[in-house]
Amino acid sequence: MVASTGLAVAAILLMAIAGGGAWTILSQRQLARDELSARVESAGRLLVASVEPLLGAGNESAVKMLLLNATKEGEFRRCRLVGEDGELVADGAPPKVAVRTKGSGPARAEPIPPGELSDPRYINASFEVVTRSEKMKLELSREVVYPRWAGWEAQTGLGAAGAAGFIALLLVYRRLKRRLRGVGAIGEALRALQRGESSAAALEVSGRFGPEAAAWNQLISEREQLRKQVAGERAKETLGTRGDVKADLAYACDALWQGMVMVDDRLMVRYANGAAAIFLRAKREAMVGASIEEFVKDPALREAIRGVASGTVRHRTTIEMKRAEAEGGGVLRCNVRPVRKEDTTASVVVMIEDVTQQRVADEARNSFVAQATHELRTPLTNIRLYVEQAIEVGDSDPAMRAKCLDVINSESRRLERIVGDMLSVSEIEAGSFKLRASDVRLETLFEDLRVDFAATAKEKGIELRFELPPKLPPMRGDRDKITLALHNLVGNALKYTPEGGSVTVKVEADPSSVVVEVIDTGIGISAEETELIFEKFYRAKDKRVDGITGTGLGLALAREVVRLHGGDISVRSELNKGSTFTMTIPTMAEAA
Ligand code: ATP
Ligand code: MG
Repeated sequence: MVASTGLAVAAILLMAIAGGGAWTILSQRQLARDELSARVESAGRLLVASVEPLLGAGNESAVKMLLLNATKEGEFRRCRLVGEDGELVADGAPPKVAVRTKGSGPARAEPIPPGELSDPRYINASFEVVTRSEKMKLELSREVVYPRWAGWEAQTGLGAAGAAGFIALLLVYRRLKRRLRGVGAIGEALRALQRGESSAAALEVSGRFGPEAAAWNQLISEREQLRKQVAGERAKETLGTRGDVKADLAYACDALWQGMVMVDDRLMVRYANGAAAIFLRAKREAMVGASIEEFVKDPALREAIRGVASGTVRHRTTIEMKRAEAEGGGVLRCNVRPVRKEDTTASVVVMIEDVTQQRVADEARNSFVAQATHELRTPLTNIRLYVEQAIEVGDSDPAMRAKCLDVINSESRRLERIVGDMLSVSEIEAGSFKLRASDVRLETLFEDLRVDFAATAKEKGIELRFELPPKLPPMRGDRDKITLALHNLVGNALKYTPEGGSVTVKVEADPSSVVVEVIDTGIGISAEETELIFEKFYRAKDKRVDGITGTGLGLALAREVVRLHGGDISVRSELNKGSTFTMTIPTMAEAA
């Protein structure tokens, strides 16, 4: 801006100087011309004044001399006296000094070439000379000579000097402008620095802007070097601590029970911990550096890893895959997620965990709920049906109504027992099943058992025998729970023994434990099912069992209860011959 204004002012100044120069030259020239004209004019008048008396006196030679002298003095190129008829009377311009001589005939005056009168190079003047006999014309012509400095050469020289001056000015301007641009660029960079810009590339200015720009760039590059140095030192410091952390992390990852594999974007395994190698049935050393696809066969998992590695998938993906029985079976849950951090080469982390147990538990819970609802539905339906019938019958058939009430009563008891059993089972599974320990008098317990089942046995025509030792040891435990377990064993024996059979409860005891055998002559249990019958809701696949009500919870609960007391229940059985359930339970004599 400054430079441009400067240049404009300089140009105007220069133009003014040039214009002034030209004007001066022209006016000087005009002045010189005017002066010459005046001189010619006065010389002409002087000559006329001198010539007229001389001509009157007929002294023509004196006129001739006068003109000659005048020509010389006045530097005329033409100085002649011409008669009215074009006769040359006298001519002072050399070399032709014509004089009218008597007898030689009149000499003719050469006409003035056309255009000469208007030629600015000459000053022409003509004066009338009057004598008594004739009229003549004095013609004067003089070349205009200008002062030297007013000449065109000088003018051109002046113009050239002006042009040279202008060019010099232009060069100075260009140089100045470049300098100024450099300074401007540096100013801009400084403002950027103030705004927080720190990258050297953004702060450097073009080297074309001159030495200031070069100096600035050097400053910036030195600053950048310093910055890098500081950053390097800092990085070294952090790396030092990071190195330790890395080692610790590596140990921690190795110790994980979850499998962990880190894969780079070319699907190469960068790291695999021991658990991962076990889950993927590979050698850890063989995994690192090899493609993950060699170890992962599951297409969904492969796809997920590929997606994350290529960057098309940015979220975490969970895939569950069932392992073939040959590979150890079970269910593996794989979690694939991206890791995009500056200083790691890996881009995918795959976490693998064995969820087989979880799946089994889930399935068990689901089937428990399904079976439980199913079991609850039967007594509930019965209750509803009999209530409806009782209402319908009303007072009209008291016997029928009594039967209905009887069924309702027994079904609600059954319902109560199932719910109680289910509650106990879920408590046992949740680990919140509590035993309320107290002193248990085994004699009374077996006596109650006999009373409880006498009617049922009699009803079914089954002989129920109790073989007890004369003395039973004192015992400590949860009376109700032990009764519950024994109830189920004796109840089963009576349930699964057809009419005419027998059930024997044989008790053997020493101070430390009590062994109760419940022996029946019933339908028996197939060898394959002797363990399965202890599972929740399991009932033998025997057709005869289907006709007998039951939920399949009794034995599971009985075994858990006895086990909680430190004992166990086992079974020996033969199909169609009978079964013997043996319950061993410590008396916990010390405690007792
Ligand atoms: P509940 O839950 O009402 O006791 P449940 O008797 O069917 O029903 P469990 O006591 O757990 O259930 O018995 C499981 C299964 O074992 C029975 O369904 C039956 O098939 C078989 N079982 C049990 N005791 C005997 C036995 N003494 N003789 C033959 N089979 C038996
Ligand atoms: Mg039972």
